[in-house]
Amino acid sequence: KPPIQSDSVAVIGLGRFGGAVAESLMRMGHEVLGIDSNAELVQKWADRLTHVVQADATDAEVLRQLGMNHIQHAVVAIGSDIEASVLTVLALEELGLRDIWAKATGTRHGLILERTGAHHVVHPEAAMGERVAHLVTGKMMDFL
Ligand code: ATP
Repeated sequence: KPPIQSDSVAVIGLGRFGGAVAESLMRMGHEVLGIDSNAELVQKWADRLTHVVQADATDAEVLRQLGMNHIQHAVVAIGSDIEASVLTVLALEELGLRDIWAKATGTRHGLILERTGAHHVVHPEAAMGERVAHLVTGKMMDFL
């Protein structure tokens, strides 16, 4: 496999959300470095992404050894473990990444991520809930 390109995207956490992000980026033709601490998930994604590694992303030194200091874009898709999510964003910020995206599980988690250095915070459940409301109202006309 070729070395990591500067326009590669690192996706940290390959659960349902991170997996969907990584898969879409691949389909769009980007190089994707997937990172997860769970060996089973790493195995599951091994053949589907450009690079997949098992690592604890909260450790800036580990991320540096993976070459993350040469990557600009990262998506932190760790959800339920808020401490791991925040520490990972902090580590990426320390490495100087220019485009850090992070998934928040709630409003306060989102605020912490912003203060920690995330450039973009996404709230998937809230955003999708709003979208579904629009879709439902859009379809209402069909039933009149
Ligand atoms: P989803 O809803 O997207 O499935 P979730 O919100 O339930 O995910 P988690 O399952 O907590 O989120 O985290 C997503 C992934 O992040 C998991 O596969 C988990 O193994 C991984 N993860 C958690 N902590 C770390 C860490 N410190 N380093 C690397 N990966 C991690």
